Amino acid sequence: MEKAAADRCCAVIGGEWKRLGVRVERIAQKHRGDHLRITYWPEKSRPAGQLLVLGHYDTVYSSGTLAKMPFRVKGGRAYGPGVFDMKAGIVQALFALQAIQQLHVELRKRIVFLWTSDEEIGSESSRKLFEGEARRSDAVFVLEPSFGPRGLLKTGRKGVGEAEIIVHGRASHAGLAPEEGINAIHELARQLARMEKWNDYRRGITVNAGIVEGGTRTNVIPERARAVIDLRALRVQDMRKLEPRLQSLRPMQRGARLEIHAGFDRPPLEHKMSAALFARAKSLAAQLGLNLGECTVGGGSDGSFTAALGVPTLDGLGAVGDGAHSANEYILINRMPERAALLAALLFDS
Ligand SMILES: [Zn+2]
Repeated sequence: MEKAAADRCCAVIGGEWKRLGVRVERIAQKHRGDHLRITYWPEKSRPAGQLLVLGHYDTVYSSGTLAKMPFRVKGGRAYGPGVFDMKAGIVQALFALQAIQQLHVELRKRIVFLWTSDEEIGSESSRKLFEGEARRSDAVFVLEPSFGPRGLLKTGRKGVGEAEIIVHGRASHAGLAPEEGINAIHELARQLARMEKWNDYRRGITVNAGIVEGGTRTNVIPERARAVIDLRALRVQDMRKLEPRLQSLRPMQRGARLEIHAGFDRPPLEHKMSAALFARAKSLAAQLGLNLGECTVGGGSDGSFTAALGVPTLDGLGAVGDGAHSANEYILINRMPERAALLAALLFDS
């Protein structure tokens, strides 16, 4: 995260929203890019509630990426770092609000748009802010990319966690004193084999050892081995069970010691938190002549946090495209108006 570059991006986005004559606040951050809060409530009366439109303007790319991956439009697609995840979503929201203004439709609820700067690195600086706004809101609409060519909304997201297991054994000469050693790699392998059995694809629980390391040379019994494991679950309840399960691991070799660190980044977005909003979106889409679909995905977003607070959350309302976090990231330009229209309809109807 490069604050100066992020802040420049924040200023550009803020400028576009200011042109709509709405209230734009820049929420200053010390180490991260500033966050943007835009509030729309033109009526003089009291609003009957609040709706939160949520997104992030940071990307996974480092400064300078534009030189080898420039923004370009070709064959109906717009390419560039972060176009799909999720600049196009911010643009669609801008047009949704513009449509609401130009049609002079009366809203029942105040709308808060929040564009944050650190979603891709865990939302540490923005979490309090968007959770606070979510608590005041009746629904949260997340402009993260949709899924697949049909532009499916994301009505379920797995929770994501990470565990690190370090095995401490005892070094010894593999030839001269093998019985005096405690092989940390062998111990780790047995623990990983045990954890592999926790995978339950049907329930949506996955345990993936993604990194292993240990040992120094073949003739030395290794005293240390380490694995980093990716943990995912569809249900909060399953996610919660993984942590005590990890902590209950015991060494299988006498004398070996396990050191376990586990952390959960984002909770699952459970389907029940999206179901009613999705049903409404589907019927509004049908009125626009669109057949809207839904899906469950393996990764989390800030919508996972708002759903975990008990606030109905609908995610994946952003652009239609593909290649997020890759050199080939693109969006389909001709699908943007319908997505903007759907968001405008949801904001009006909610
Ligand atoms: Zn994103």
